[in-house]
Amino acid sequence: MTVIRQDDLIQSVADALQYISYYHPKDFIDAMHGAYEREENPAAKDAIAQILINSRMCATGHRPICQDTGIVTVFVHVGMNVCWEGDMSLDDMINEGVRRAYLLPDNVLRASVLADPDGQRQNTQDNTPAVIHHKLVPGDTVEIHVAAKGGGSEAKSKFAMLNPSDSVVDWVLEQLPKMGAGWCPPGMLGIGIGGTAEKAMELAKESLLDPIDIQELQARGASNRAEELRLELYDKVNRSGIGAQGLGGLTTVLDIKVKDYPTHAANKPVAIIPNCAATRHVHFTLDGSGTAELPAPKLEDWPEITREAGENVKRVNLDTVTAEEVQSWKPGDTLLLNGKLLTGRDAAHKRMVDMLAKGQELPVDLKGRFIYYVGPVDPVRDEVVGPAGPTTSTRMDKFTRTMLEATGLLGMVGKAERGPVAIEAIRDHQATYLMAVGGAAYLVAQAIKKSRVVGFEDLGMEAIYEFEVEDMPVTVAVDSQGESVHQTGPAKWKEIIAERV
Ligand code: SF4
Repeated sequence: MTVIRQDDLIQSVADALQYISYYHPKDFIDAMHGAYEREENPAAKDAIAQILINSRMCATGHRPICQDTGIVTVFVHVGMNVCWEGDMSLDDMINEGVRRAYLLPDNVLRASVLADPDGQRQNTQDNTPAVIHHKLVPGDTVEIHVAAKGGGSEAKSKFAMLNPSDSVVDWVLEQLPKMGAGWCPPGMLGIGIGGTAEKAMELAKESLLDPIDIQELQARGASNRAEELRLELYDKVNRSGIGAQGLGGLTTVLDIKVKDYPTHAANKPVAIIPNCAATRHVHFTLDGSGTAELPAPKLEDWPEITREAGENVKRVNLDTVTAEEVQSWKPGDTLLLNGKLLTGRDAAHKRMVDMLAKGQELPVDLKGRFIYYVGPVDPVRDEVVGPAGPTTSTRMDKFTRTMLEATGLLGMVGKAERGPVAIEAIRDHQATYLMAVGGAAYLVAQAIKKSRVVGFEDLGMEAIYEFEVEDMPVTVAVDSQGESVHQTGPAKWKEIIAERV
């Protein structure tokens, strides 16, 4: 009988969460590097370069890959011959590990979990509770798989109860355009098929814990239906032309994972859960001998990539930028932002729009300014700000017209595409929307030289900050005429790929 000490489990979970906050799995780095080598669309190639450079910087700096350090998901397999020293429940031990990891002063992680999800939505302050899946298995060890899942990619999860004769491939390909780029491709799609509704979702999530090995599968060929689906979907999803960050390109997914389970004769439940550029998971085993060993990867595991300045790079002074200058920018132009940039995301937008409706004055004048959709990680040591990458912009779409109309805001910076209502508002106000790379948060933070809160301090990471930035790289994603690179880019690359058949 193996005895597992309570504190060994707690500390192992804490160590694992710290580890995955700054180390990408090696299979992910290799696959992303392969995508970088293959990519032909300069904008998508640059986005992948930023993800890889960011990944290497995080590994050396021990700071989070993404500002969204995720909601913790744990799969734990407990051997039936294990007994425990200590009186905490397994869930309490895991949650204590989460607490310890997210509050570690040397590498504070962002607490993103809110209690009372359809009510007060209050931050629990320590990122607890985790979502925990348990299984009792034969044996005398405890196997734990820890993951930290970003909200942007989780938000794009899909589920359907198909008819038994419906095609899973057709359904997945139908969902893909609806998912947009808020899941920060290239990443993986986890697909769960069978069981019941909740089982299919769990299978999809669990499938993402496997290492990237599609090239091996391509080499050896499929041996069952799940593998056939993986191969077919990998090919078809990459033919969609969506590309890195939805900019159009050759790689949308690095792998497709499929797990299946017997189901009822009347059902075919299917779930998709995407994994993003911040793929974070690690597996360890406790055998009673102490805490988990998590060997640090070698720096040689990361490719050394340098970004090349493209042809359309423009340096922009945000303190003096004019509407005429904004109107001269074209979709796909790369800008290097300098000067003062405001921030604001969901909660700040909701509050600002409510205040405007009541005729109240906002805490900061937005006229002629740019707002960056971000919720940064708290700084540590001498940092000005922690990792501060963009959040999904479509969540702010419903506020965009009011913000542009009532405040004189010139533009916005965020992640992925804008929806039709936001694009129309941007066109009507001759404003613009700029895109930063999701999953390159530590790299982006290096461009932020000063930071201060200028409004709604009570909102924590959702407060309005004023950043002073130096050469912050962004791409013009919607120009003042309402042309969107997220529409033109994928369409163009879908055609290019189709012509190559
Ligand atoms: S990479 Fe994108 S989807 Fe993933 S956690 Fe970061 S912002 Fe969210």
